[in-house]
Amino acid sequence: MNDTGFGMNDTAFGSAGDSDRRRAARRDDAVRAAVEQGLLGPGAPIVGLLDVTGIRDSAAALRAAFDAVTAPGTPVLHAFAVKATPLVPVLRLLREAGIGAEVASPGELALARAAGITPDRTVLDSPAKTPAELREALALGIAVNADNPQELDRVDALVRSAPTRSPLGIRVNPQVGGGSIGATSTATATSKFGVALRDEGAREWVVQAYTERPWLTRLHAHTGSQGIPLSLMVRGVAETYALAEEINRRVGRRQVDTVDIGGGLPVNFTSDETTPTYARYARLLAEAVPGLFDGRYGLVTEFGRSLLAKHGTVVARVEYTKRSGGRPIAVTHAGVQVATRTVYAPDSWPLRIAAYDAKGHPKSGPATVQDIAGPACFSGDLLAEGRTLPLLEQDDYVAALDTGAYYFAHHYAYNSLLRPGIYGFAPASVPASASASASGGVRFTPVRTPQGLDEIVGESGGEHASGLLHL
Ligand SMILES: *Cc1c(COP(=O)(O)O)cnc(C)c1O
Repeated sequence: MNDTGFGMNDTAFGSAGDSDRRRAARRDDAVRAAVEQGLLGPGAPIVGLLDVTGIRDSAAALRAAFDAVTAPGTPVLHAFAVKATPLVPVLRLLREAGIGAEVASPGELALARAAGITPDRTVLDSPAKTPAELREALALGIAVNADNPQELDRVDALVRSAPTRSPLGIRVNPQVGGGSIGATSTATATSKFGVALRDEGAREWVVQAYTERPWLTRLHAHTGSQGIPLSLMVRGVAETYALAEEINRRVGRRQVDTVDIGGGLPVNFTSDETTPTYARYARLLAEAVPGLFDGRYGLVTEFGRSLLAKHGTVVARVEYTKRSGGRPIAVTHAGVQVATRTVYAPDSWPLRIAAYDAKGHPKSGPATVQDIAGPACFSGDLLAEGRTLPLLEQDDYVAALDTGAYYFAHHYAYNSLLRPGIYGFAPASVPASASASASGGVRFTPVRTPQGLDEIVGESGGEHASGLLHL
């Protein structure tokens, strides 16, 4: 039995297309090469791997999808939601692929700037911006979407005090409803984000706010992430467009010139197939809301998970295998620290697991129901429970697939477990930087250095070791 619907065919292709098959093949090559090159081994029992080719392909697919449905000359900014994969080299790679940044904290803004993403390609959206953050954003010329009336008051004061190039807008919540995962549903009746449009008087307040502020030129909504049906996302965009039209009609000019439709395209975590595609979503949007694509509006998108998820893999060594109550258990180095959502909410966030042998080759063998446990000291630290896989043995490797977004770049410091190293990889035929190493047809380059014990001590108050003694 297997509780998630995943089984021996965890790595099966489903109805994956050629590019999905190639991505799966690159992943297998990378795991083997990581073992051969010593990135993975007894001294480095867990790594995150990022498929550079795949990231480039997804960025190109995103741009092509919207190019295909927008009128020629329409300004379109695809701003990657930095929270999905907050890694500077990834943001830089995306920048080179024509993608900007959506940031939601001073930290994320600092990452985007470190990656060289310019203010005109950056959007600030967080729900709790301080006066200092707002002042900095407006001084730099970064687009800001005000979340609520109190924030708009602060923006008012800043706009009065100094001229700004920042495009400014309001985030609305079209309240079209939630999806299958409460924690990522942002358009429910009581969501904490944006101005709730269907609340009494809210729509009128928004229209009035634009009427009184000629500098409010954008309108923003993000109707949810993983678990939201496409039809609901499309409705959220349609409602936002309808509001933009209403504002412009009542103001009597095309004041709202750009609609920010947010991100949230769901990712298929059950096979290697990329579905839904950007092309499908863009077509659905263009059919449902043709006026948004006829050239009268510029567009901003804020995709996160769908750009990166399928290009990341956590690979961890099987330290021990054992049995408990008759159930085989593989004790690995990947658990709650790299797959926090999966461990705490396994029904909402199941991950496919691939089994590799000690040399990093895909493992075969009789199907066996087993648990894949993590290294943390609590019994629920399971990467997968009751999963059917070839029986894992000591020194094998397990890979948690589709973990390029919201997983290994979101370290959770339970048990002071070290942040693993992250490496980008590409086939050796692709030119790579001097620091990259090549063997077995795969080149790697560091994206994030593995954390050291001195850093753990430093982050844990090491410099104040005797501080509590002097009170
Ligand atoms: C999280 C978030 C996104 C990205 O969502 P994904 O599901 O990762 O595409 C975009 N916009 C806002 C405002 C967000 O909070």
